[in-house]
Amino acid sequence: MELSQRVQNLTPSQTLAITAKAAELRAAGVDVIGLGAGEPDFNTPDEIIEKAFDAVKKGATKYTPAAGIPELKSAISQKMLRDHQLEYGPDEIFVASGAKHVLYNVFQALIDSGDEVIIPSPYWVSYTEQVKLAEGTPVLVYTDESTSFKLTPELLKENITDKTKVLMLNSPNNPTGMVYSNEELEALAEVVAENDLIVVADEIYEVLVYGTEHHSIASVNEDMKARTVVINGVSKSHSMTGWRIGYACGDKALIKGLTGLASQSTSNPSTPSQWAAVAAYEMDRSFLTEFNETFRQRRDHAYNLLEEIPYTTCIKPEGAFYLFPNFKECTDKMGYDTVDDFVKDLLENAHVAVVPGSAFGLADNVRISYSTSEEIMTEAITRIKNFVTERL
Ligand code: PLP
Repeated sequence: MELSQRVQNLTPSQTLAITAKAAELRAAGVDVIGLGAGEPDFNTPDEIIEKAFDAVKKGATKYTPAAGIPELKSAISQKMLRDHQLEYGPDEIFVASGAKHVLYNVFQALIDSGDEVIIPSPYWVSYTEQVKLAEGTPVLVYTDESTSFKLTPELLKENITDKTKVLMLNSPNNPTGMVYSNEELEALAEVVAENDLIVVADEIYEVLVYGTEHHSIASVNEDMKARTVVINGVSKSHSMTGWRIGYACGDKALIKGLTGLASQSTSNPSTPSQWAAVAAYEMDRSFLTEFNETFRQRRDHAYNLLEEIPYTTCIKPEGAFYLFPNFKECTDKMGYDTVDDFVKDLLENAHVAVVPGSAFGLADNVRISYSTSEEIMTEAITRIKNFVTERL
């Protein structure tokens, strides 16, 4: 069967592919440790599950408004006001089936054929593909360790053309774990405003920052609020990846467009999941403090272990749950042509699954998720270290 060019040109998600390959090996009885996961390893808190169950028993089994129930919009609105001093009314909030789906819709709603979207690289795997699906042109702007993998105002300026419409900004960042400071956001905002750009700000890892604070670029000033679409959701913050609830906060006309799009494609996101998300935002916030502390400890533990692997370097991440070490020198010394080849061998021989940096636009690195217990992480890094030292 002849498929559309659109689908033929698509690169399927490599992170999901690695997770699937690791699961396949595990099903065949191999003791594989998966460090490819993009999700918290805890179950959703019981309180959320119970409240969602109650809602279902009371009839939350029907269609809802396409852009989400008023109760969830109200909870999101309160959260944005409390955490970012940003006011959004119900007609400035759009809820859909996970932040990934929200982003897909946002690009569909903003981008016309040929419009350019600036994406700082390394980048999360779906941005480029979603821009292409909207017939836009992803413009990758390469960053490196010298700026802690962050986009600078100079780099942004250099890459703006008369076709640039959107800047994609992800902080805390997947895969690098870097977090933009308020000053850095203000400096970027100046260039954004001068060039009349829209910012799509993916803040899905917002609650996972360690020793630093998360700031939204929409909070810089009123003008930035007007030109920013904030993307967030409960997947990472409340261990709710399977419930599929994400949202966008932004301009009324955009939200109206997104709502129209949803009305003709998916309709509302799952009704029980929307009630689960309401319960998540109503829950005592001490849960988030504990959650954050667990991941901070895991970050420190994994980072210290990683230092034992020879010829690798890594910037200490400040957020999310990924380490993004450079393995180029190490794999060169081991005789590999590419870090990708090393990653394949590592899975097959040492039974540790990591994601090659090439999936995120940086072929010298690998992404290691530390969303797992310290015990498992110790075993995984020991396996990597042994695999490496035996081949040096
Ligand atoms: N944005 C980033 C940077 C992510 O890493 C992910 C998930 O891995 C998402 C968005 C998607 O989140 P959701 O599960 O809400 O679709």
